Amino acid sequence: MTTAIPVITVNHRGAARLRGGHLWVYRSDLVPPADVVPRGTIVHVRDQRGRSLGSALYSSASQIAIRLLSGEEITEAQLPSLLRERIASAVQFRWQIARDTDSYRVIFSEGDLLPGLILDKYNDVLAMQALTQAFDRADLRQIVIDSLAEHFPQASVFERVDPHIRELEQLPPRESQLVRGERSSTIFTMSGVRFHFDGLAGQKTGAFLDQRENYAAAARYGQGRALDCFTYQGGFALHLARVCDSVTAVDSSRPALEVAERNEQLNRAEHRAGEIEWIEANAFDLLKDYATAGRQYDTIVLDPPAFAKTKRTVPTALRGYKELNLRALKMLRPGGILVACSCSFHVSEAEFLGMLGSAVSDAGRQVRILEKRGQAQDHPILLKVPETAYLKCIIANLI
Ligand code: SAH
Repeated sequence: MTTAIPVITVNHRGAARLRGGHLWVYRSDLVPPADVVPRGTIVHVRDQRGRSLGSALYSSASQIAIRLLSGEEITEAQLPSLLRERIASAVQFRWQIARDTDSYRVIFSEGDLLPGLILDKYNDVLAMQALTQAFDRADLRQIVIDSLAEHFPQASVFERVDPHIRELEQLPPRESQLVRGERSSTIFTMSGVRFHFDGLAGQKTGAFLDQRENYAAAARYGQGRALDCFTYQGGFALHLARVCDSVTAVDSSRPALEVAERNEQLNRAEHRAGEIEWIEANAFDLLKDYATAGRQYDTIVLDPPAFAKTKRTVPTALRGYKELNLRALKMLRPGGILVACSCSFHVSEAEFLGMLGSAVSDAGRQVRILEKRGQAQDHPILLKVPETAYLKCIIANLI
């Protein structure tokens, strides 16, 4: 017996979006369904003339009501094999592109045509995260866990819970927990630099894996005295310590800096910089104080949290980025290296470069762009889903 698959009709805008290659349709673009559609279920999507647009995963809570899974009309019975194929191809792609690391994002949601599923690999621990009702279903989670057991037989799998996301998807609260194997902590290595990972500790550790290739790039140019602002657990600082004479790293979070210091212990033997100076401070205030004190650096990294969470806050975000970059430019010695990042999807690369240009003019300097970079390749960008591209990392050289 086959269960009937609910049909969702989308309006003209929703249909145009899907035909244009995007995977999302917002709730406002659905023709309200007559029956209640079960949360997290697979649905068949049609336009108002009844033409098929494919199959999608449905959320009863999110503004993103449907996320397209396939251009074909598939059944629940076909779902397991489709997921297994997508997971296999995501894993295969990482084997091709992830170099010099035991840690990378194995599954990047829409970027791997698995909308709503994130999987990060930290050496022998896999951290899985369901972003949607569909991937919170026990049967789908089991398919994912079984697939992972095939691809990574030695690895433990741990489910990471973001309470805020669960709330948005109207999912009952759940604790982060191990779902396979015994390890939830490990030591992982990126470009020869070692880090602690502890998924269940009070102070959770992890990494911004999207910056992995940018750490290596920063270390190719880094020199002299370095300052890493918004260091978190020391990602840039620990890479720079191998090539710079000294490194000062700043973050406002004491727990993050405690992990950073533990990471430093793992790597100190390879440090040219000697001890890293970890400073707990507001980076805006600190940059101001250091500039006033006439401090100078040869390498400055700015990797703040996302300043623009919505389109509306972009102007404020750009002012924040400019303030940081202007101060940094004033403190850089001629020939110095600036690594300027933004992880705000809403701030485009063009806007970010515009901001940087305006900071450069105000500082009365000239810079040469060495590299315009983005997120690491294990966070693939889907051309027709612009939301999958969010990280900017500009490496510039003060002339
Ligand atoms: N560069 C890091 C990631 C930075 S995430 C890496 O590659 O791993 C952003 C960090 O900014 C967080 O650790 C957060 O604690 C810190 N932060 C947020 N606001 C801050 C502020 N005003 N001053 C200093 N640090 C801040």
